[in-house]
Amino acid sequence: MFDAFLRFEPEMRLAAFGGTLTAILLWEFLATKRPAEWRFERTLTHLLLMIVNSLALRLVMPILAFELALHVEARQMGLLPLIPAPTFAIFFISLIVLDLAIYAQHVIFHKIPFFWRFHRVHHADTGFDVTTGFRFHPGEIVFSMIYKLALVLLLGPSAVAVLVFEILLSSASLFTHANAHMPRRLDSLLRWVIVTPDMHRIHHSRQGNEALTNFGFNLSLWDRIFGTYQTDPSLPHAEMDIGSQNISAQSAASFTAMLTLPIHKD
Ligand SMILES: [Zn+2]
Ligand SMILES: [Zn+2]
Repeated sequence: MFDAFLRFEPEMRLAAFGGTLTAILLWEFLATKRPAEWRFERTLTHLLLMIVNSLALRLVMPILAFELALHVEARQMGLLPLIPAPTFAIFFISLIVLDLAIYAQHVIFHKIPFFWRFHRVHHADTGFDVTTGFRFHPGEIVFSMIYKLALVLLLGPSAVAVLVFEILLSSASLFTHANAHMPRRLDSLLRWVIVTPDMHRIHHSRQGNEALTNFGFNLSLWDRIFGTYQTDPSLPHAEMDIGSQNISAQSAASFTAMLTLPIHKD
């Protein structure tokens, strides 16, 4: 039924990424929230990480989540197809369950020292803008894909649910890192459902334990349920100290320093 839709998988991913990136860049230009961090080396590092990450997935992984979901769906494997509910209901349940799983993964990446070594690259950024949304270590990207493959095997979401979820996740990653102003009332309203940039920025704070709050990517619900929700940072957004302890702005902007960060001691 979704065959025609699924045939344009790469085009849809590219269009969603390009469209969201352009819209957020425009929003950041028109309504900048904090002094922009457009240092050349930092931006280049983020672009290089994005390129290396897509290469890493293609070269290291024998199969990706979407392709696996096509096989799993054809064989009706996993827990979700066992639910006696209409297809569209299972589709939405799949999106919600996958979002909860990604929230749990993010908590794990902070709490387990081995994974934190990789996730720290994302937090080392002393700036916070749309390009932070694709600043991840290739190791983290590969571990995340292995985790998603396990989820697909266990849950058996449809291929279209996996595709929509991955598109939502990469768009949300751009949106939640926007260095852009959103009226407070709109922000509070949206936060009842989704994670906003003001909510996620607190997760990038160096102050106290603020980096151990607001782990959500798409839905804000999980932070509220599991008690990790924080409404405001201790300092105003414009003055927040962003980054990870003991990593200077200079090394955070360096591609080689970030690529080798997981093998360095604190
Ligand atoms: Zn984090
Ligand atoms: Zn982030």
